[in-house]
Amino acid sequence: ESARLKGNIKFEHVNFTYPDTGIQALRDVSFEIGQGQFIAIIGRTGSGKSTLANLIMRMYDIDSGNITVDGNPLKGLNLNNYRNQIGFVPQEVFLFSDTIKNNIAFGLDQVTDEEVSTAAKNAAVYHNIVDFEHKFETMLGERGITLSGGQKQRVSIARALIKEPALLVFDDCLSAVDTRTEEEILRNLSKIMKDKTSILIAHRISTIKNADKIIVLDQGKIIEQGNHEQL
Ligand code: ATP
Repeated sequence: ESARLKGNIKFEHVNFTYPDTGIQALRDVSFEIGQGQFIAIIGRTGSGKSTLANLIMRMYDIDSGNITVDGNPLKGLNLNNYRNQIGFVPQEVFLFSDTIKNNIAFGLDQVTDEEVSTAAKNAAVYHNIVDFEHKFETMLGERGITLSGGQKQRVSIARALIKEPALLVFDDCLSAVDTRTEEEILRNLSKIMKDKTSILIAHRISTIKNADKIIVLDQGKIIEQGNHEQL
């Protein structure tokens, strides 16, 4: 029933067209991600990076080709069980008019204060939060405070990490975080995701230099893949 995700992902000759617009966003995309690897996806704006993340999350059906997860067709997996094991941070941060704690613990039934703190520490946002008068009980949104862009991104990273995901998918969610803080987050990830797969869509070289594999997209096609030294 609830198969444990290992994080081996394989795309074979995947073609994908957005059904509503007819835009062919991925063309003949093939790659393999081994369990425990750290993968970076780069490419110009509109090259298909978010689309790749969306397909891994199984938000759409593909036109042709195959996507397998741990050797099984992605299409055949129990969607809730699969997604529950993924820490997905979308490009557009979504926060609720609720406390910081509830924003981090979103979607989880029983969460301890310690788990919330640990997730916040790993996302390098703990110090910002405890500086607020009401700490983790601080309200966000209309009835509360407004976080900076980088703080919002880190709260949504904490939301992904508190799940202790088997697979992490970051869609360009470090763009508003300064380089030093980004390094801190990446150091934390290398510990907590040590034997687990991480997929980061990124822009800065500093984010991707330690990746096991960098996938370079251009106009929906993979134009290069390899590690930092090979490219
Ligand atoms: P960016 O770096 O700007 O986020 P990206 O590399 O992530 O870009 P995608 O967002 O995957 O690129 O977009 C690839 C192509 O698909 C673009 O032509 C884009 O206009 C189109 N596209 C993206 N999302 C959708 C959508 N929800 N519906 C229709 N077309 C889309």
